[in-house]
Parts: sequence; C-alpha cells; structure tokens
Amino acid sequence: MDCLFCKIIERKIPAKIVYEDEHVLAFEDVNPQAPVHILVIPKKHISTSLEITSDDNELLGLMYQAANKIARDRNVAERGFRLVMNCNREAGQTVFHIHLHLLGGRILHWPPG
Ligand code: 5GP
Ligand code: ZN
Repeated sequence: MDCLFCKIIERKIPAKIVYEDEHVLAFEDVNPQAPVHILVIPKKHISTSLEITSDDNELLGLMYQAANKIARDRNVAERGFRLVMNCNREAGQTVFHIHLHLLGGRILHWPPG
C-alpha cells in the first residue's frame, strides 16, 4: 500500500518520532503550524475518520491517551492545546491515514480557518 504514514511506521521514511507504543506512533509534523505540532497516528492503517469502526474503539482511546502524554511532556497540557483530525478534501486532509494533529504552544484561534 502506498501510504506515507505506513512508511513512517515501517521506518522506510524518516521522521522525528516522539512517542511509540504497540498501537500508536507520534512524530513531529514536517511543516509545523505551531511551536508544538505533532501527529499522532494508529499503527493500523485507517484511511479517514469515516472508516473508523467499533473494532477501533480502544485504538482511538489509546491515540488520545498518547496525545495527552505528549501534551504534558511538552508543557502545553495546562496552557491548552488542540487535537484535530481532518476528514476529506474540504477539511484539508492530504494524508489518507488518520492522524490527530496535536497543536500547542501559542494562542489557537477559533474558529479555525
Ligand atoms: P492533513 O492535511 O492530512 O490533515 O495533515 C497531514 C500533515 O502531514 C500535514 O500537516 C503535513 O505537514 C504533514 N506531513 C506531510 N508529509 C509529511 C512527512 O513526510 N513527514 C512528516 N513528519 N509530516 C508530513
Ligand atoms: Zn497507512
């Protein structure tokens, strides 16, 4: 399968990995939009949010727990941070392997653009 993030999981493409466990990987976004911009992904390939099923209930919880740990480690937990998952074209999804954007370290405006 020709998936950029699966290749990062398989170490075929380099990334600055900040967290890894059996089910989840997290790495620095190559084009950061905030002082902290990390992508949290499942090791299972799921192409969009719409493909999440009840089989993935635990996996999604693990992604959020990993994101929380990273937010604390980066000292943005108390200040505030944002977790975003874009779905499909109009939301700006460009990589079709689901990922939580963990954004923090600056004031994040609302609504997003
Ligand atoms: P999306 O637009 O799908 O919500 O988010 C994809 C994110 O992946 C973007 O923020 C983009 O900067 C990031 N990205 C794209 N290619 C690479 C890459 O090769 N390495 C890393 N670390 N991030 C990438
Ligand atoms: Zn993938």
